Amino acid sequence: MRYTAVDSCLVFLPMVHGKQIITVENLMDADGSLHPVQQALVDTYGSQCGFCTPGIVMTLFALYKSGHTPTRTEIDDALVGNLCRCTGYRPIVDAGLALAVHTDRKDKFSRTEEETIVLLRQIKHESIRYESCNQLYHRPATLHEALVLRRNSLDALVVSGGTDVALRVTKKHELLPEILDLSAIPELKEVVSSSESIVLGAGLSLNDVRPAVRISFAALAEMLDVFGSKQIRNLGTLGGNLGSASPIGDSLPVLMAYGAIVRVMNCDGTRDIPITEFITGYRTTACRPDELITSVILPRPSASVIVRSFKISKRQDLDISTVSAGFAVQLDKKNCVETCILAFGGMAAQTKRAVSVEKFLAGKNWTRDVVEQAASIVKNDFSPITDARAGADFRLIAARNLILKFWISTQQG
Ligand SMILES: Cc1cc2nc3c(=O)[nH]c(=O)nc-3n(C[C@H](O)[C@H](O)[C@H](O)COP(=O)(O)OP(=O)(O)OC[C@H]3O[C@@H](n4cnc5c(N)ncnc54)[C@H](O)[C@@H]3O)c2cc1C
Repeated sequence: MRYTAVDSCLVFLPMVHGKQIITVENLMDADGSLHPVQQALVDTYGSQCGFCTPGIVMTLFALYKSGHTPTRTEIDDALVGNLCRCTGYRPIVDAGLALAVHTDRKDKFSRTEEETIVLLRQIKHESIRYESCNQLYHRPATLHEALVLRRNSLDALVVSGGTDVALRVTKKHELLPEILDLSAIPELKEVVSSSESIVLGAGLSLNDVRPAVRISFAALAEMLDVFGSKQIRNLGTLGGNLGSASPIGDSLPVLMAYGAIVRVMNCDGTRDIPITEFITGYRTTACRPDELITSVILPRPSASVIVRSFKISKRQDLDISTVSAGFAVQLDKKNCVETCILAFGGMAAQTKRAVSVEKFLAGKNWTRDVVEQAASIVKNDFSPITDARAGADFRLIAARNLILKFWISTQQG
């Protein structure tokens, strides 16, 4: 049994088929005693106005059920998606820490877990076609079915985690007439690792991508650490981030730095597209109407390639990037630039490389002077916009400084 906290407002009803739903109303025991998580929040005075409390309880509940005693860092990471504006986080974090005394993690759910598993196993892993209120919802159980549905229903809106698409319903009150939901396809959730590359299924949740890339693709893992919140990363996928092709999609610059290849598929076969060609414009991709993104291939960089990612936003957690970056550099024995990729988000209508800066650096000595000169021509590559997050000038200065920050990060010590 795996207990996962998600933002329920982003979940379409058929997505929960085959799962147990636990809401805050379920936690109390039949005899009226509070769940250990609820009790801990009461004991540490972790609730004031109470608006945010149900979400905080469920976040800590998922952590409680994760089977081990969470560290302070894990508690902080879990609570990123829960905004509290009156109690303050100290007593809430204290409640999380207080749960360490419950080493066996026993509660009413563990007492009935065997029974629940038997019940869940009775629900077949099957495709669903659900029709209601002028809406048609397909949730195929295999990739083959999904590709056939894609070919036959070109107007259906593809959904993986729904963390982008569901906002069209919750914020814009749109009625989505036809949905093709890929969230139940095991083939899209695979990780295949070899000496040449790692292949990440497009349907893997971003939280499941993190451990898979932590060691070999650390800059991607670090970007995912500040991507949304745990509740968003439990639903959102890499395929969805690529599919939305947002100019501030956080995975895109760092995937460019790693030279990622996007694999797409239709009923006739597969195409592998370099990520720089995959993003074709403002929220547009090279994916054809009958194709689905099935995986992302990350070629293993040689040991001499240095890759870093950066995200500038108003707050560190749960915020949209103002400017983001994925950088890679390979130096030769004389400390000269052999290859260099400088990809930026938030600087143009699409994620884009700073081509003039890259050209300037090619073959040059990787010294502070040279990098400062290179960084100053970043203005030739971009004409960013001014919006609610930042002015155009700020963005250009931030981009320039990130290049310098990258250089500093490559200097030993
Ligand atoms: C509170 C909140 C915080 C967020 N924070 C961040 C953040 O920090 N950084 C960031 O970059 N984004 C953020 N997002 C946006 C979103 O979570 C990401 O873009 C996420 O990766 C989308 O994945 P998904 O699976 O939920 O996509 P979905 O909503 O399911 O789909 C997104 C788009 O991709 C298409 N698509 C999905 N899967 C496929 C596929 N396999 N083949 C073809 N097309 C496909 C869909 O048709 C749709 O157009 C946030 C969203 C919310 C609500």
